[in-house]
Amino acid sequence: MANRIFNFNPGPATLPTEVLEIVQQELLDYKGTGMSVMEISHRSAEFDEINDTCNALFREILGLDESYHVLFMGGGASTQFALVPLNFLPEGKTAAYVDTGSWSSKAIKEAKLVGNVHLAGSSKESNYDHIPRDLDIPADAVYLHVTSNNTIFGTQYQAFPDSGSIPLICDMSSDIASRCWDFTRFDMIYAGAQKNLGPAGVTAVIIKQSLLDKCADGNPTMFNYKTHAEKKSQYNTPPAFPIYIVKLVLEWVKKQGGLEAVEKVNTAKKERIYQLLDLHPDYYRGTVKPDSRSWMNITFRLPNEDLEKKFIAEAKAAGMGGLKGHRSVGGVRVSLYNAMPLAGVEKLAGFMEEFKKNN
Ligand SMILES: *Cc1c(COP(=O)(O)O)cnc(C)c1O
Repeated sequence: MANRIFNFNPGPATLPTEVLEIVQQELLDYKGTGMSVMEISHRSAEFDEINDTCNALFREILGLDESYHVLFMGGGASTQFALVPLNFLPEGKTAAYVDTGSWSSKAIKEAKLVGNVHLAGSSKESNYDHIPRDLDIPADAVYLHVTSNNTIFGTQYQAFPDSGSIPLICDMSSDIASRCWDFTRFDMIYAGAQKNLGPAGVTAVIIKQSLLDKCADGNPTMFNYKTHAEKKSQYNTPPAFPIYIVKLVLEWVKKQGGLEAVEKVNTAKKERIYQLLDLHPDYYRGTVKPDSRSWMNITFRLPNEDLEKKFIAEAKAAGMGGLKGHRSVGGVRVSLYNAMPLAGVEKLAGFMEEFKKNN
């Protein structure tokens, strides 16, 4: 048994050990082919099965019907920041965006390179410590873009805005498949795999047919969502090995009992840590408003930076890594993606109680 730590990295992040073990078992000889998944044709029956299963599992787990396409693309979520406006923001029209952190800001920057952007809401003034509630969405906006979970600042929507008939597009990179949401409210969802779905290298893009119909013509072939939808993500060579691992992770989610079971564990995990923040607010100082707290990334400061350094170093020595906060927030960030077991959180909570006593 490998010597694995409890890995609280924000992304790339921990993967279920069971999944890595399957990858290891199948690495040299995938299902009797005598080849690795990395070595087989993306047009082979074996890869078709992986691609189709991964696609079907996404729909099943998120509760989406055939009116949604699931695409597997390269380029990371950051490429989607540009592809969304290139496909859905025609000249002379306006797209609405909510700015809730670094990733939203980057999405807005790309959209501005393409067309008109209206800021429907922002929490920038207070260093992104909450999710803005009262949004100003122009009636003629071509879409509303939100970032469901703010990986760096530690906030998350607890309820999504009602955009009426305006298509709702969501960057769900750091909390997809972590809670039971009504995913049919979204016309498009995209997520880089490396937080909650698998390794870096593939981005899941879920688009409703009614939105896909509005894709701009005239973009380069690879930048047109219709290309990837029509060719089932196989217009060119897809990131085959990451897709294979995403499939295994989704099978793992299903085996847990789907999103209901996952949500139950994730609820227990985040409550364990937030309870400590509420119990010792002068010591573990949460950086966000309680009504906007993320279940996936919990951010807090300690009374001074020396204590923060000591906390991170001692946690690491005790087998808990990846706890350093992002440089724009500082402090500590506890990332609790699906693959982090409750046992890891219990261990961290025990460490936090001891650390406070001793320091
Ligand atoms: C990590 C992250 C991104 C960036 O993803 P890349 O795949 O590195 O481009 C975008 N949005 C959110 C919310 C993220 O957490």
